[in-house]
Amino acid sequence: MPDAFRHGLQSGRRRQVRPVGGWQADLAQALQREELEVHYQPKLHACDGRLSGVEALVRWHHPRVGWVPPEDLIAFCERHRLIVQLGRWVVRAVCRQLADWQRTEGLRIAASINLSPLQLDSPSLADYFDEQMREHGLQPDQLSFEITESWSLAASGAADDFFRVLRQRGFGLSIDDFGSGYSSLSRLWRVPANELKIDAYFVQNVAADPAVQIVVKAAVDLAHALGMRLVAEGVETQAQCEALVRLGCDELQGYVFSPALPPAQLSLWVRGRMR
Ligand code: C2E
Ligand code: CA
Ligand code: CA
Ligand code: CA
Repeated sequence: MPDAFRHGLQSGRRRQVRPVGGWQADLAQALQREELEVHYQPKLHACDGRLSGVEALVRWHHPRVGWVPPEDLIAFCERHRLIVQLGRWVVRAVCRQLADWQRTEGLRIAASINLSPLQLDSPSLADYFDEQMREHGLQPDQLSFEITESWSLAASGAADDFFRVLRQRGFGLSIDDFGSGYSSLSRLWRVPANELKIDAYFVQNVAADPAVQIVVKAAVDLAHALGMRLVAEGVETQAQCEALVRLGCDELQGYVFSPALPPAQLSLWVRGRMR
């Protein structure tokens, strides 16, 4: 076990207040006023505990309701056609942040951004990503996009073209929540992803359940055979960490290291580990 893993950040988990109603009415305006935030959760190389990148996760603190659960926020945006606007805002905010870390702190960090299938409103979405990277002086290898398993495996010409274009332009592509759906594996090899993220369900049962260990090992072998890295997310304990390293996972992410942090705290966290 690399020593770096022993310094997990156990505290600081965000308490999320369930909305009692009302935030929905304010969302469109909050988006316009840029009142949302992006927090960043570290991803670590399993071999030595170095930072491999961060996952960008949207956060909204409603003045009355408190923290709005991201799953509810995204679902609401998808239902009310706000997801395209939210998605573009997140990409812009992340690019701005990466440029800021680079310029003011000398930290070159790579970020993953979650995409909803409903964001694919036009073929020009990839152009928007390019434009933002250029405007902020970033390289495409600093940005990766996470798509859900079900989206990646659903046959659709437009989505296939979009995924191919992303990879051609040098962006990363990750299949998120792998194993959580009921999709057929038959299309997996056709998705040009470079990363497979196994669902937290497997991670959280990997230490105690030998059957889960077999499944995780199979996922690792499958990912490697297809030329992808295997990332385990939702890692909460040292025992899970050890099992995942032993089974050959390439990268780890979870509360045992750190929850998603606001930008200033993330750079402190990174500096703390570099000492
Ligand atoms: P996800 O992409 O599967 O993200 C991982 C979720 O697991 C995050 O929840 C993260 O905070 C949480 N997590 C991280 N480590 C641990 C751990 O050790 N244990 C447990 N139990 N959970 C952990 P979060 O931030 O609440 O986001 C929920 C979902 O909302 C995300 O799931 C993603 O699907 C969606 N989401 C968040 N931000 C965005 C965004 O900017 N765009 C889109 N389209 N979706 C987003
Ligand atoms: Ca994700
Ligand atoms: Ca996930
Ligand atoms: Ca999820």
